Amino acid sequence: MSKVRIYTLAKDLGVDNNKMLEMLDGLGVSYKSVSSTIEEDTVELIKQLLAEEAESAPAAPAQTADAAQAAPQAAPAPADAPTPSPAPEAATTAEDTGAPHRAPVVTIMGHVDHGKTSLLDYIRKTRVAAKEAGGITQHVGAFEAQTSKGKIVFIDTPGHEAFTTIRARGANVADIAIIVIAADDSLMPQTREAIAHAQAAKVPMIVAINKVDLPQADPERVKTDLTQLNLVPEEYGGDLVVVPVSAKTGEGVEDLLEYISLTAELEDLRADPKGTFSGVVIEGRVDKQAGVLATVMVQEGTLHVGDFLVVGEGYGKIKAMTDSAGGRIKEAGPSTPVQILGFSEVPASGEQVQSAKNEHAAREVIAGRAQTRRDTEAARERRKLTLEDMMGP
Ligand code: GDP
Ligand code: MG
Repeated sequence: MSKVRIYTLAKDLGVDNNKMLEMLDGLGVSYKSVSSTIEEDTVELIKQLLAEEAESAPAAPAQTADAAQAAPQAAPAPADAPTPSPAPEAATTAEDTGAPHRAPVVTIMGHVDHGKTSLLDYIRKTRVAAKEAGGITQHVGAFEAQTSKGKIVFIDTPGHEAFTTIRARGANVADIAIIVIAADDSLMPQTREAIAHAQAAKVPMIVAINKVDLPQADPERVKTDLTQLNLVPEEYGGDLVVVPVSAKTGEGVEDLLEYISLTAELEDLRADPKGTFSGVVIEGRVDKQAGVLATVMVQEGTLHVGDFLVVGEGYGKIKAMTDSAGGRIKEAGPSTPVQILGFSEVPASGEQVQSAKNEHAAREVIAGRAQTRRDTEAARERRKLTLEDMMGP
């Protein structure tokens, strides 16, 4: 072993990537990202530090370096601390830093025909648990994929709607953007547009160079073209993660999923399932039999059948919910896309969804919103009249 990637080392030593980066910072070692490589000397230092830490706090190896230093039994019992304080307390405080982790929400963007749909289909086919016999998989605008690193939620809205779901009404829906670029076509207008959207939303990007199975595939050209946009792939010394894949053969897809999980881990995504509910509409439609159906991404809190929801100037009571695989569910926590039956009108994609205690509260929120809208309209009308007055007849 000479050089080793940071995330590989973290995995081998059983510590999380953030902790590994903290340790490197502590040692003054510079790196671009978790996939940067570090020297053997540094690896040895890290191992030493971890061994020392394990000695001073044998009960809780997963603590952060700081917590370990502060652990009580590091030194022989000080005179002013006669009570034998147990270690578990330190361990609890280290974990109680915030809400629990949640799964990453990923959007796939790129130029037409570069393979967005094919890539999503491949992931869905290989990573979504088969449904019970007889069920028809409906397209609901999002799905949950199971990977060895946990759940990843993919937004699956066609074409240009992907842009509205990345950043809707000023808030991000997606945590990570996958930019798909065909290896035989390289950067095209909609690729640049997708990159611009991800940058504007400040969402981390991962580039998937697709169609590498084609004989005319030229992944190196894609990387050079990206560099022209100041997006420098890691192999060229930059910090852009670029993964060669084929949606046709499945090559590289496992790596892509792994990079998504790594990026998510670094983003430290959290949401409180016990907090106030908030969500966003992914898509809505009218079903001939069921009526209005809307897919909502739960961002914070938990939804339950029977809850009242407010969207724009409309509201609804959840009559039934299904998960993205079509199974009936009674409740749904953060980073879960759910299809909801109970809205009276089709809500628009990107609309924020809030909950209300009861129907009365829902109506009050809507009345308030309607009033604000009328006030704004009236003010606009007055400005127009004043302008006409000034211009004269
Ligand atoms: P989208 O417009 O970005 O959603 O692209 P599609 O997924 O519809 O793919 C466009 C075309 O490229 C289709 O004919 C796909 O079969 C083909 N395609 C997609 N991915 C691959 C791939 O990895 N290898 C090859 N050879 N063809 C692919
Ligand atoms: Mg498509």
